[in-house]
Amino acid sequence: MLSYSRQEILEEDIQAVVDALRSESLTGGDRLRAFEEAVAEFVGAKYGVAFSSGTAALHAAVSAAEVGPGDEGITTPNTFCATANCLIYQGGRPVFADVAEDTLTLDPAAVQARITPKTKVLLPVDYAGHPADLDAMAALADKHGLTVIEDACHAIGARYRGQRVGSISHMSVFSFHPVKHIAAGEGGMVTTNDSKFAERLRRFRDHGINRSTEQTATEPWFYAMENLGFNYRLDEMSCALGFSQLKRIESNLNARRGWAMRYAEALADFEGLRLPVEQADCDHAWHLYPIRINERIAGIDRRTVFCGMREAGIRVQVHYIPVHRHPYYQSMGWRAGQFPVAEAAYEQILSLPMFHGMQQAEWQSVIDCLTRIWKERRCHA
Ligand SMILES: *Cc1c(COP(=O)(O)O)cnc(C)c1O
Repeated sequence: MLSYSRQEILEEDIQAVVDALRSESLTGGDRLRAFEEAVAEFVGAKYGVAFSSGTAALHAAVSAAEVGPGDEGITTPNTFCATANCLIYQGGRPVFADVAEDTLTLDPAAVQARITPKTKVLLPVDYAGHPADLDAMAALADKHGLTVIEDACHAIGARYRGQRVGSISHMSVFSFHPVKHIAAGEGGMVTTNDSKFAERLRRFRDHGINRSTEQTATEPWFYAMENLGFNYRLDEMSCALGFSQLKRIESNLNARRGWAMRYAEALADFEGLRLPVEQADCDHAWHLYPIRINERIAGIDRRTVFCGMREAGIRVQVHYIPVHRHPYYQSMGWRAGQFPVAEAAYEQILSLPMFHGMQQAEWQSVIDCLTRIWKERRCHA
């Protein structure tokens, strides 16, 4: 089976994990600090705070932005449900806004229309690895006193107007789940340039405990739990794996770019197929390669292509079922049809295999399969 994404584990990664296992600390040691510093340095941010998952990192960021009961966060329906769920963890409410037709990232005009006195955060997603319209988000945030939490789980290494994502928004969130660029097993990180956020994030990860209080002078055993937090720590084995993988990030990004360019070339003349765009002022990180199939022009629907490729052993996937269409969100009052751009895209999208370790023969099998399906398609119609 050729999956839409696959991790790459080399001997050096295995050795790094083994070294961690043989070290003094299995959690909270040197590898944590090294990994945090390396990610922060790579994206150009002052601070990196690691978490046990991207979801935990999102939760912490929402807490650090002081979202509480009654507060609203504006986000995109075109994402993994974790982006919206994290607001609810803190008693907040996700408010969806539609996406832009080309990049399928949050449409600033749609966001603006949904800002109310209850709005506290904006949660754009760098969908598929293409940066959201971050200057527009920052401008809206400045004007209305909001915090921007950028879900950059798809986009480590992407650039927006010359700057790496992770150094632009108030807080940026990354995931190190194995389908993403860098695998740590599970893992996530928030990067920020603001020491106040970094401090809150660290504390939230560790039960809200502050270990640097003055009382430790008189009571050396003392620590103070100052707010409600969690155990969202990332262990040393995961940090070692993430750190080892990060060393190859440039070749990882280059390989993905190479596959994306070759897809674009090979699929350019397929009738009714729309390929992902890369805006001139952005560098795409190419986590996903979502094509859009226009049934009317192509003469074939997405379901048939999906099933045809799966039958051929190619595990394509659909990113994403719009979040507001999940039963949980429907029960909160959201309705199908509220976000026409995201929902029209959902009817058409299909993610082709895209990962740095992809082999030429694997890439070719995708093209061959699509070529065959496109040749036969009038029979299905
Ligand atoms: C993967 C992902 C997450 C969650 O990350 P985990 O590490 O799986 O918890 C959040 N948002 C988006 C957009 C993602 O792709």
